[in-house]
Amino acid sequence: QEDVFKKIVSHCKEYGFVFPSSEIYDGLGAVYDYGQMGVELKNNIKKYWWDSMTLLHENVVGIDSAIFMHPTIWKASGHVDAFNDPLIDNKDSKKRYRADVLIEEYLAKIDEKIEKEVEKAAKRFGDSFDEKMYRETNPRVLENQQKRDEVHARFAKALNDSNLDDLRQLIVDCEIACPVSGSRNWTEVRQFNLMFATEMGSTAEGAMKVYLRPETAQGIFVNFLNVQKTGRMKVPFGIAQIGKAFRNEIVARQFIFRMREFEQMEMQFFVAPGTELDWFEYWKKERLKWHQALGFGNENYQFHDHDKLAHYANAATDIEFRMPFGFKEVEGIHSRTDFDLSQHEKYSGKKMQYFDPELNSSYVPYVVETSIGVDRMFLSVLTSSYCEEKLEGGEIRVVLKIPAAIAPVKLAVLPLVKKDGLPEKATEIMDALKFSFACQYDEKDSIGRRYRRQDAIGTPYCVTVDHQTLKDNTVTVRDRDTMEQKRVTINEIEKEISFNTDI
Ligand code: ATP
Repeated sequence: QEDVFKKIVSHCKEYGFVFPSSEIYDGLGAVYDYGQMGVELKNNIKKYWWDSMTLLHENVVGIDSAIFMHPTIWKASGHVDAFNDPLIDNKDSKKRYRADVLIEEYLAKIDEKIEKEVEKAAKRFGDSFDEKMYRETNPRVLENQQKRDEVHARFAKALNDSNLDDLRQLIVDCEIACPVSGSRNWTEVRQFNLMFATEMGSTAEGAMKVYLRPETAQGIFVNFLNVQKTGRMKVPFGIAQIGKAFRNEIVARQFIFRMREFEQMEMQFFVAPGTELDWFEYWKKERLKWHQALGFGNENYQFHDHDKLAHYANAATDIEFRMPFGFKEVEGIHSRTDFDLSQHEKYSGKKMQYFDPELNSSYVPYVVETSIGVDRMFLSVLTSSYCEEKLEGGEIRVVLKIPAAIAPVKLAVLPLVKKDGLPEKATEIMDALKFSFACQYDEKDSIGRRYRRQDAIGTPYCVTVDHQTLKDNTVTVRDRDTMEQKRVTINEIEKEISFNTDI
């Protein structure tokens, strides 16, 4: 699986999806650039989200707020004081870790031990193997399970009590039992704020410390009344936003999964107090459906309900997707109570209340939030789409089976040969269709190689113009996934493609 992940990373680079940032200067940690194919796919993902929010829900509208905001906003939201990661350094290896991530790694190691034990037994006993019974009775499995539960319980308690010393002691103990770092010499655990800060205005005038926003949500909260009043919105209603967010992540690994500059698609849904948990359930279902509609297989998604809630939440869950490195969070759904609006009311001194004409009274609405990372979504699309297929002649075909609706290029128009008027005919077809779809024209190399190139960027259809086209105005349309070709008239191409590129 890790191997597949490496292949996807290099495929992204080779075909213009994702490049390391500042590559000619040896890159910049956890920052990436999207290339000519990547930007198209990313835009399509954003459109798929935006349309599902704002077109399919009449009571959801969008905004685009600035990245820079008044610094007091981050004080009010709690980010200045509490948007921290617990850090620990290993004194021997000089490596820095996020304490919580390190403990997750220990837990994963114990899980791995259990699974290996079960696998070994399954092989040994063959058909007569009763897995459930084995898990419940084998002493080694039970011992590891108990160890796991213990680590998990101590971890939860340390987090709950915000006890950094206990967190450190847990790491020391785990490292003895199942080494991850290879060394036992640790510093204290300390809190590290994830926000990037910069200065606004020249120092002569007195510069103001401002932050690059670590989430887009606050831009929605502070505009809540602007939108409600000017849009004459009635609770319940939502405000959606897509935009960049910045976090000085410590453990910046796994390609575009954890970046320092990334993009979020967030929607804050404002509801009457007391109705928030029903709306939370509603959005859980809605969002899962949105993911599943892409057709990557329902078994690749799971909810992870949080037992430990942030101080502002009264319910929270993650939608996790099966990445090559395990089930990981792609989206968070949180019932944030009236925390944010009340905090802004307190810090700004302005009323953040909604007048409910039906109740004839005012209140601070409660909020249910859906927050998804564009880049993590992009990664899940690529990992689900990447296939290597062995063809009859033994050749390996690398194909991205991206759903047609979000594929970067929908249609490639290819003249069979570069002569006899075929390029001219193909260009004519391309010119007629390029207003309807993202099309690409390619006349270089053999037709087989051109098909492979289109497969590698996930183009769902290739139209080939051959000598027969000149006689009867028909072309072949090749389907990326089945590789089957059928002949259609030029007039039918558009209908054929648009029918198949809707989700
Ligand atoms: P994690 O626990 O993985 O750090 P989080 O719980 O801090 O994530 P949220 O604050 O809930 O994440 O952000 C909402 C979404 O934004 C996440 O589900 C994820 O898709 C995306 N996201 C958050 N941090 C990053 C990052 N550093 N790089 C890419 N996407 C991110």
